Amino acid sequence: MRLLEVLAKHDVHATFFLIGRYVSQRPEIAREIVQAGHIVGNHTLTHPLLTLKSEAEIRRQLLACRAALHDAVGDHSNLFRPPFGGRRPAVLRIARELGLEPVMWNVTGYDWKAPSAEVIEKKVARQIRGGDVILLHDGGHKNLGADRSQTVIATDHLIARYKEEAYEFVTIPEMMSKPAVSSQPSAVR
Ligand SMILES: [Zn+2]
Repeated sequence: MRLLEVLAKHDVHATFFLIGRYVSQRPEIAREIVQAGHIVGNHTLTHPLLTLKSEAEIRRQLLACRAALHDAVGDHSNLFRPPFGGRRPAVLRIARELGLEPVMWNVTGYDWKAPSAEVIEKKVARQIRGGDVILLHDGGHKNLGADRSQTVIATDHLIARYKEEAYEFVTIPEMMSKPAVSSQPSAVR
């Protein structure tokens, strides 16, 4: 089953941080994500570790990803997730100068190495407290077409399990617009 089908089955919307060069290569995927009601955000053009890049290159990475997203889906969120979580004051300042809102996460499935669905589920479940931003991956940064079947299975199980416990899954913009006392996890990809 595909990730979008799993999310639709559970009526859950997620936030997808997309790499610009892959959006340019497969714009129909970005459009399908948006048409399904999910949020897309900026994950740079080529996924470099921005802490090692010049200010000009940081700016170029963010603007080029924004342009790729704009070409594919038009207007979209102003959310930005730094590759590898790499940030320093200059990265955050430039992002904000460009009108981007940096987003981090606090729960991770360590799924970039594609462990089994069971391992991903256990790692996430160990960290969930409520009000979490969960990081999972539906692709890879080195090339298109990474096998994320285990993440898709884990996502299906985690949503079912936590919905049963009366958790709600929301997008990052929904989460940011709710009062700080809310205790709902949010799915990030
Ligand atoms: Zn990434």
